[in-house]
Amino acid sequence: PDGGRSRDIALEKGLSAVSGSPQYFEFRHCRGDGILFDTEVSLSRIDIADEALLQAIIRDITARKNWEHDLKESEARYRSLFGESRDAIYITTQYGAFVDVNRSFLDLFGYSRDEILKNNAKVAYVNEKDVESFKKIIKKEGYVKAYEQKLKKKDGTIMDCVLTVTTKKDAQGRVVAYQGIIRDITAEKLAEQTIRHMAYHDALTGLPNRTLFNDRLKMSILNAQRNQKKTAVMMLDLDKFKQVNDVWGHKLGDLLLKTVGERLANTLRKSDTVARMGGDEFLVVIPEVDHIEDTNIIAGKILQAFTEAFVIGGRNLSITTSVGVAIYPHDGKDAETLIKYADIAMYAAKATGRNQYRRYSPDMQGSIKAVVGSQHVIKH
Ligand code: GH3
Ligand code: MG
Repeated sequence: PDGGRSRDIALEKGLSAVSGSPQYFEFRHCRGDGILFDTEVSLSRIDIADEALLQAIIRDITARKNWEHDLKESEARYRSLFGESRDAIYITTQYGAFVDVNRSFLDLFGYSRDEILKNNAKVAYVNEKDVESFKKIIKKEGYVKAYEQKLKKKDGTIMDCVLTVTTKKDAQGRVVAYQGIIRDITAEKLAEQTIRHMAYHDALTGLPNRTLFNDRLKMSILNAQRNQKKTAVMMLDLDKFKQVNDVWGHKLGDLLLKTVGERLANTLRKSDTVARMGGDEFLVVIPEVDHIEDTNIIAGKILQAFTEAFVIGGRNLSITTSVGVAIYPHDGKDAETLIKYADIAMYAAKATGRNQYRRYSPDMQGSIKAVVGSQHVIKH
């Protein structure tokens, strides 16, 4: 089948066997029906009396050949998976010394092959604590799967990564190697954070939006309930803000809203929440108030914060605000009611002259309608 090459080998081996040592070789035989099959032949000389005989033992090795072929293929597949994978793949000893890494690993971490093979997996960790936590899991489970871990490049850049690591064990069950796949998910994490931030914050001012405000208020109410404290909700609406837009333009109006947000946040405590509801409306929650009178001080501080002009684009802009205050548990027991009442109180402050705060009182409901008539539709 191969142009007589196998035949020549057989002849040569046959002659060698005749002259001395047994010979082994592979030979492709042909069955009666013409189908070729692989064999392993062992030839040996047998001397009987003065006759020299040649003994041939022919073994069908088709199964072994197939298996070898499959193995070679799977090895090649593994090699190409390892070499061409876009994920970083590495193999280390049980002590963490790198044994092999693929191209993507080198690209991701910024090491040369020579550098990494002289190093230990610890170089990629940000701190010793992470190494210990990782070891604990792998010791307990024998592997880690989709494990999120911050890792460090050669230049010190910290990445968010996902690790999948398996162990190789010897016959006694001792770990002899670690094989790991690393994926850099820094970009995904960043996108996730941005989306999360966008869902809970106002795009113009970066302040919490209504959704986050509602969450914080509900939480504050629960805490106040547990600690026998009060929680204050303050609704702010800038006075005559339309004029700013009309006189200075919408862009400057936007900048003013942003600066007002910053000043409010700086005026209040870190534990307080300042949110933008949209338009020129802001909501504040003061989570823990000891005495009702304290809200007067806080509302006064807010009004005070507006007395200094806002410097926007080199111009001094002055603006005031009207503030409505509603207090848990006195004015309302739930978030929705408190916001509604703070809104009503804010309109009362507008109706009675602006640039002032008003605490909610039940009689405002009728008087607001009377004063503002159809001018104001209660928005909340
Ligand atoms: P009042 O004292 O009664 O509150 O008068 P006002 O002029 O402030 O009127 P109002 O609060 O009812 O309306 C707020 C205005 O703010 C309406 C709109 O022209 C403007 N506005 C709303 N959203 C934005 C924004 O994102 N940027 C800017 N520049 N202006 C906005
Ligand atoms: Mg306004």
